[in-house]
Amino acid sequence: MKFGGTSVADAQRIKRAAARIVARRREGYAVVGVLSARGKTTDELIAMANEVSSDPDPREMDMLLSTGERISCALCAMAIHDLGQKAISFTGSQAGIVTDTYHTKARIIEVRADRIQAALAEGMIVLVAGFQGVSTAADVTTLGRGGSDTTAVAVAAALGAQECEIYTDVPGVYSADPRIVPNARKLPWLSFEETLEMSASGAGVLQLRSVEYARNHRVRIHCRSSFSDDPGTLVTSEAEVSEQMEERPLVTAVTHSTSESMVTLAGVEHRPGVAAEIFDALAHANVNVDMIDQNVPLSRGGAAEISFTVPHEDLRTATRALEPLSGRLFAECHTREEMGKVSIVGAGMRTHPGVAAQVFRVLSDEGINIEMISTSPIKISCVIAREQVPLAVRALHGAFELEGEGTVLAEDPFAAGGL
Ligand code: ADP
Ligand code: ASP
Ligand code: MG
Repeated sequence: MKFGGTSVADAQRIKRAAARIVARRREGYAVVGVLSARGKTTDELIAMANEVSSDPDPREMDMLLSTGERISCALCAMAIHDLGQKAISFTGSQAGIVTDTYHTKARIIEVRADRIQAALAEGMIVLVAGFQGVSTAADVTTLGRGGSDTTAVAVAAALGAQECEIYTDVPGVYSADPRIVPNARKLPWLSFEETLEMSASGAGVLQLRSVEYARNHRVRIHCRSSFSDDPGTLVTSEAEVSEQMEERPLVTAVTHSTSESMVTLAGVEHRPGVAAEIFDALAHANVNVDMIDQNVPLSRGGAAEISFTVPHEDLRTATRALEPLSGRLFAECHTREEMGKVSIVGAGMRTHPGVAAQVFRVLSDEGINIEMISTSPIKISCVIAREQVPLAVRALHGAFELEGEGTVLAEDPFAAGGL
């Protein structure tokens, strides 16, 4: 049972999470709780680091950030004790979460769950601090923003759990972010593949790596509200979803991201090996390149142009990594920081031509320029100007008739100065 930041934001909510965990235990299940840091704690810790350093050391960043989830777990264990149940909290390291050495976005390599298992065998409820582990070099690591989802799925896989329940501040995965589209539809069933595409294209509700991990280890995820008992969204195999849903819609969801930046390299030498060298440099700097587009010169000897997108937070690292190649492999490097991306995802698209044309028509009717396009068998993504993202999401959601019952949100992001 994983509880996100909003679900453990204050004492009342921690007690509520504790009560939910204890209720499950009393139903006869062995329960592991994975908790996130409370409310905006992680953001506040990042701000604290930036107050004392312009370029905080990643190892020390992980020492700092990992404290947030430890606080939640210790408090929740205390609240569970008060309810008369045995409970013990573990850091990621104590829980046996072993990662690689990439500080601030480490990957889980292995979960050595013997200590969790021993505690469960003694009838305890186990609380594991999300979002963290211990590296093969014995240092504390964190798993990237939203990483507690991945902790939960990895622990569920290691224990052979029946299900990984992810309790959050929305009642499930919706046909679009309910903060942008108030009448979005709750999706009762989703395949791993669709959910992967959704997470990869910006639906922040489940961290991408958690869905990858769930698909690879066949862990069923139940994403649901921590404020109600209603069933949420089951993320499971394509076979199970097809069995449950007689008719699959053409488009399942519209997703978006507002943290894209675009890099364009002009005057790129057009010969074998150049692209490899450019993207090698980015890979070595651990930059996550998303879309790539190359314009090849028509005339022999002409120069090519390569554009690609990176998460906004990786832009500085990306341009730094490319600097040594400037002048040798390409002539100029241009960046556009304020970009966004809108995507439509749906397993039904696989067998339907014409969806892309419809997407482009809808965007053009809204006067939205498309800068870059990428597709997979079940996804179409367009890079557009950041400020046009909400308009694009609503237009596509309407055009593909995805409207549903909507949901009441815990807080209004528009009032809070969000999108
Ligand atoms: P937690 O703190 O519980 O991990 P997150 O903030 O990481 O919660 O994820 C939940 C948020 O994801 C929601 O509040 C919602 O705004 C956002 N979100 C984005 N896309 C979707 C979607 N398609 N369905 C549901 N929520 C979404
Ligand atoms: N606390 C971390 C974050 O804010 C991890 C998580 O909540 O999943 O990104
Ligand atoms: Mg999250």
